[in-house]
Amino acid sequence: MRTQIVAGNWKMNCNLDESLHLLNALKLKDFTKAEVEVVIAPPYTNLYAIHQNLSDSSIKISSQNINENEEGAYTGEISPDMLKSVGVEYVIIGHSERRAIYNESNELLAEKVTSALKHGFKIMFCIGEMLDQRKAEKHFDVVKKQLEKGLFHLSASEMKHVVIAYEPVWAIGTGETASPEQAQDIHQYIRQVLAEKYNQDVAEQTSILYGGSVKPNNAREIFAKKDVDGGLIGGASLDADSFAEIVMSF
Ligand code: PEP
Repeated sequence: MRTQIVAGNWKMNCNLDESLHLLNALKLKDFTKAEVEVVIAPPYTNLYAIHQNLSDSSIKISSQNINENEEGAYTGEISPDMLKSVGVEYVIIGHSERRAIYNESNELLAEKVTSALKHGFKIMFCIGEMLDQRKAEKHFDVVKKQLEKGLFHLSASEMKHVVIAYEPVWAIGTGETASPEQAQDIHQYIRQVLAEKYNQDVAEQTSILYGGSVKPNNAREIFAKKDVDGGLIGGASLDADSFAEIVMSF
């Protein structure tokens, strides 16, 4: 019933040649059996070329960020309309690296969400706790607050355009993953929070992805959990074979 999604976040990796090489390797994979939406999030500079080279592939394109303003004097930023014009369908908002390194606050992320929605993007909204918050057993409170401040200004019908990515910060790029049970517990909790804020339909229809060192050897166990609807994949998405194996883990 819910859309299953595997998304690759290429982060600040792959120049133009490398991006096209990776795309070509992915296009050779047969993802049709997996019944999963496959999304890639290359760096900004390569979005146009990737879009031009997708040909009849079902792979969808995401950006890794979006600016909340329409246009104007925002040196170095990329507007929603610019992303639309190069074939972007999804936008990642609130990745922990944006929150931590670029100080993106919940309030700013809420503005980005509003802007992305206005421009017709699907949103992958990232939430997740830091290691000290997990150790202090605050992870449930942390994700609830991130949802409330960043996302819950949306109406129930607007939530149809949102996918949530739960990514514990201590598991991103560290080789350490949440156990399948830890992932299930918090995904179930997120669904409960959605039901309390909106209704059971929104809770049941919203795809919740897990992110944090998902690899071919652990994807199957994590994706098998009832409330895990796919993954946001960093490191392993840079290798076509590994990414394809993860996609096929459903
Ligand atoms: C990410 O950056 O969203 C991520 C989950 O990275 P990795 O898979 O490398 O932990």
